[in-house]
Amino acid sequence: MRTVSGIQPTGNLHLGNYLGAIRNWVVMQDRLAADGGECLFFLADLHAISEYQEPKAFAQGIREMAAALIACGIDPDRSILFRQRAVTEHAQLQWLLNGTARVGWLNRMTQFKDKSGKNREGASVALYTYPVLQAADVLLYQATHVPVGQDQKQHLELARDIATKFNSDYGVDLFTLPEPIIPPDAARIMSLRDGSAKMSKSDPSDQSRINLTDDADAIAAKLRKARTDPEPLPSEAAGLEGRPEAKNLVDIYAALAGTNVAAVLGQYGGQGFGAFKPALADLAVSVLAPIATRLTALQGNPAELDRLLAKGAEKARALAAPTLAATYEAMGL
Ligand code: ATP
Ligand code: MG
Repeated sequence: MRTVSGIQPTGNLHLGNYLGAIRNWVVMQDRLAADGGECLFFLADLHAISEYQEPKAFAQGIREMAAALIACGIDPDRSILFRQRAVTEHAQLQWLLNGTARVGWLNRMTQFKDKSGKNREGASVALYTYPVLQAADVLLYQATHVPVGQDQKQHLELARDIATKFNSDYGVDLFTLPEPIIPPDAARIMSLRDGSAKMSKSDPSDQSRINLTDDADAIAAKLRKARTDPEPLPSEAAGLEGRPEAKNLVDIYAALAGTNVAAVLGQYGGQGFGAFKPALADLAVSVLAPIATRLTALQGNPAELDRLLAKGAEKARALAAPTLAATYEAMGL
């Protein structure tokens, strides 16, 4: 089993990124390491340029994201952690796959429609061809499995369509068809200010999210000010219906404690937020403080980060180069 996952190195990581994505990656890494499988994790810096990035902040963000992933438990010795841009095979394979991908297929991608919105003519070409680069990201490594959120399922289907058509057009058995892994209980964490919006890096309000770099005081203060309603917590999950802010805090507690909503309500049902919020803050600090400590230490050593990323890129290239060479050969190039 070989998996490939990418994350855009834009902005600060928050609790939603950790509970909804990165924590699952660490579990997957630990499972695969035990089974002799391989996990590749890359910083999707080439994907990020589908929107303008201010160069200085971008360069800084790439290192920050690498540090954050390692601090969260991605182990550069057991997994392959690298920058997409450092393995030029990604961009080369994308160009070759552009010959196979159909305009009609890309036109059906809902993410492009969502992200370009009303200004389709003004969207970058990269935003449009982004799913072909994603196909290259996974096909390059002959990945057997790709962890995807609901929003990415369509792009993985496209990668499979491209692989199937390429294999058939050129009469080769070159690309492995990757299977999706949809995490069974990936938490979806909502904003602390608005229970109907997801917690997001791009939310202008810092109060809306808990950043992985927030210290204990900041975490406690943000949770204290988190929007709630005046009712005490219900003793059963059904009682959270129509109370999105209360539900979110209980979901966060359950995800941090590695338990479920029923168990949390079994303990806190009937209590008010005056008691629940400090308990949640303590729990969040106990999970996030060690991550923040490691993150700060890693950020203080950029040379070491660069070394780790260079080593990861070398390992990735060793897997990618044969696929790219076989692709050129299959095409008669
Ligand atoms: P942006 O606002 O720039 O889109 P983001 O916070 O949505 O940033 P992404 O880089 O788009 O973060 O996503 C990184 C990973 O984190 C993805 O796997 C995504 O599904 C997951 N993720 C993002 N926000 C949440 C959230 N609120 N709850 C759970 N998972 C999340
Ligand atoms: Mg997002």
